[in-house]
Amino acid sequence: MNPMSRRTMLAATAAGGALTASTTLAQGAGQGDVPQPIRGNTGGTDPGPRNAAADRDNPDLLAPPPTDAGDIPNLKWPFSLSHNRLQDGGWARQVTVRELPVSKAMAGVDMRLNPGGIRELHWHKADEWSLMLNGSARITCIDENGRNFIADVKQGDLWYFSSGLPHSIQALQDGCEFLLVFDDGDFSEDNTFLISQWFAHLPKPVLAKNFNEPESAFANIPQKQLYIFAAPVPPSLQADTVADPNGPVPNPFVFRMMDMQPVKCPGGSVRIVDSQVFKASARIAAAFVEIEPGGMRELHWHPLADEWQYYISGRARMTVFASGNNSRTFDYQAGDVGYVPRAMGHYIENTGDAPVRYLEMFVAPRYTDVSLAQWLALIPPELVKQHLHLSDTVIGRLQKQKQLVVGSSQSATSPPAQPG
Ligand code: MN
Ligand code: MN
Repeated sequence: MNPMSRRTMLAATAAGGALTASTTLAQGAGQGDVPQPIRGNTGGTDPGPRNAAADRDNPDLLAPPPTDAGDIPNLKWPFSLSHNRLQDGGWARQVTVRELPVSKAMAGVDMRLNPGGIRELHWHKADEWSLMLNGSARITCIDENGRNFIADVKQGDLWYFSSGLPHSIQALQDGCEFLLVFDDGDFSEDNTFLISQWFAHLPKPVLAKNFNEPESAFANIPQKQLYIFAAPVPPSLQADTVADPNGPVPNPFVFRMMDMQPVKCPGGSVRIVDSQVFKASARIAAAFVEIEPGGMRELHWHPLADEWQYYISGRARMTVFASGNNSRTFDYQAGDVGYVPRAMGHYIENTGDAPVRYLEMFVAPRYTDVSLAQWLALIPPELVKQHLHLSDTVIGRLQKQKQLVVGSSQSATSPPAQPG
């Protein structure tokens, strides 16, 4: 169905060019390949007005598969549609339950720090899981027993700050961009416990007594929050080491994800990082998934937790089945957040001609999923036949091990790349 429908859309786009108005609009925008809301014999051209860029990014909303039905809520939010907070030392934007109402369990922040830029010393109630997307940074933290952790993180590294532990992030010489994921959809990056604001909201005599210093020692504390601010690039990690009489933290707060061997799959690879391998990551589990062109994250669901997704590269689509007659398809690309409520069946298909890389995130100590194909392979074949009317040959080929990412089907012709 999918290859056919994509060809149909391409053909419909060409046919739509006969309409003067849409031709003018498309040409005016330099976008003659905008898909039309046509699928098979249903729908019709959209002569405009239309948001051509949004239509090209969301072809499965514009012309949904005929199997879509019901009233599943929105499951997509591009960081590009979030307010961006521009500061001296960088910027930050967030996707929370306020942007994506279904995402009650988790929230995310996309942050850029210019070289030397500092995310102010702070803490918060949520746990913080992080992935370095570009560049490098120095992180600092202490735990409740006064054991410090100071480390440098580079592209592909993860780090984790448990609820309430105070920390900072400072970009090294090349600057950096990273993703933060919190185990609370209601989290707000604008309402963390900032050291500047606490100092500014304490009586000076209290500060003096606490640190056993004269009040004059606190004459220059900032009166407004710093949040993200410019600073010189820090010295070497060795020069920034602070001797700690309390010893090291029992489990490092950093995990070098790209040093880990991925699970190789027919259509890609998966790195599962949960508290079994990254012990500090006690309450957030992750999978870093790569899907080759034509490949697909197999049909599955997660029995224990909602899934929060972040798309790093490529183009993908996902259909979420919410029980009953409720099923809806969304398209994703780099910088998008996706969401799948617990137990809802789904797949993620690479619809482009480049690898798809994305994160699956869960508020859980362990990564868990149930594979549709594995389920059917491990129950009596007759039972499968009675339900689905599949041939013995097809039932006999069901895989007893999870494929995780399947390759392009042997029998299907490969679909053309998406319009645009
Ligand atoms: Mn934080
Ligand atoms: Mn999933």
